Amino acid sequence: MSTATQISSESRSQYKAKAYAADGEKSPLDPTTIPRRDPGEHDIQIEILFCGICHSDLHQVRNEWSAMPTVYPCVPGHEIVGRVTKVGSAVTKFKPGDLAAVGCMVDSDGNCPECQGGLEQFCPHVTLTYNSPDVHTGGVTYGGYSDSIVVKEHFVLHVPSNLNLAAAAPLLCAGITTYSPMRHWGVTKDKKVGVVGLGGLGHMAVKFAHALGAHVVVFTTSPNKREDALRLGADDVVISRNTDQMSKHNGSFDFILDAVSAEHNINAYIQLLRRDGNMTLVGAPATPHAVAAFSLIFKRCSLSGSNIGGIAETQEMLDFCGKNNITADVEIIPIQKVNEAYERLLKSDVKYRFSIDMSSLKA
Ligand code: NAP
Ligand code: ZN
Repeated sequence: MSTATQISSESRSQYKAKAYAADGEKSPLDPTTIPRRDPGEHDIQIEILFCGICHSDLHQVRNEWSAMPTVYPCVPGHEIVGRVTKVGSAVTKFKPGDLAAVGCMVDSDGNCPECQGGLEQFCPHVTLTYNSPDVHTGGVTYGGYSDSIVVKEHFVLHVPSNLNLAAAAPLLCAGITTYSPMRHWGVTKDKKVGVVGLGGLGHMAVKFAHALGAHVVVFTTSPNKREDALRLGADDVVISRNTDQMSKHNGSFDFILDAVSAEHNINAYIQLLRRDGNMTLVGAPATPHAVAAFSLIFKRCSLSGSNIGGIAETQEMLDFCGKNNITADVEIIPIQKVNEAYERLLKSDVKYRFSIDMSSLKA
């Protein structure tokens, strides 16, 4: 029997944690209690201080992704920062009192080529922070809209001590999801980079592309975000519904990152790529995109996707943020405002990420 199987079949004691959960796709998030395992030898227990609200939380809570049906009750949240309260006997990199962070994954098989290559996000047996089967409790995993979480050491990250914690939380998803494809596709000085959608992911993409030295153009449907885009590091802003403004950039981009959460026309952006340019989708709308073959064919362009980032790269991104003093622009809310925050997120009415102050859960 492998060690992994021994640990997973071990019946470990549990405790109750406070959380907010949705009971169905039309239900609001409400207070509840959930089971968490007591930390095993490789585990770290974290008191959650802040958790960002990702648009993926909203997609998942409302069961909008047919490829990833939601299991209820659903406790979302994968932008977690907190303080270590307990560590297992085999834990070496953390001690009680340390700052700690958890993103979108809490386990993987550790043996497959993806895991061996530091790309745990592509492991066929990855365990997501919420809505994945939980081998320890027998139910599903529950995310960060909670007062504590217990996670295997390998999936716990160090937070640079100079970063504001509420503003650092969104780095664990919005940060790594935009940093990883930029590193993969070679965003550097002298590259022209487009960012489509100035939301939680988009505003992090602008900060990273600027910090990497690129010429950054923001595409937005919201004219009132223009000043913010420039302040965040954009060199130019295009109102994407204005075809004249769009066509001025035809054939000029090395790389475009699309971080839009809803249905839209991606061909309008592909035609802005130069020869061999790449457009990467990180936004995950519920409905499929239509792709015009000719927009790719004529300039040998590529269209790709990207899924968060591996654990080592997530630590690299956090360290990069520590060094360059990069965090998200956040609006801090108490957990009691989470349902209102979801409605505002749908209207793009947040600058640019909600971060839940989890001390409000004690109220
Ligand atoms: P968000 O904060 O809501 O931002 C989405 C932005 O998209 C909005 O601010 C808006 O920007 C734009 N937008 C919204 N509706 C639009 C429409 N109908 N047409 C054109 N543009 C529209 O969401 P987020 O948290 O950044 O997440 C964005 C997407 O990425 C979500 O689908 C999420 O699930 C996905 N995601 C993927 C990964 C991954 O690993 N691939 C990880 C995390 C999240 P403007 O106002 O500037 O137009
Ligand atoms: Zn996310």
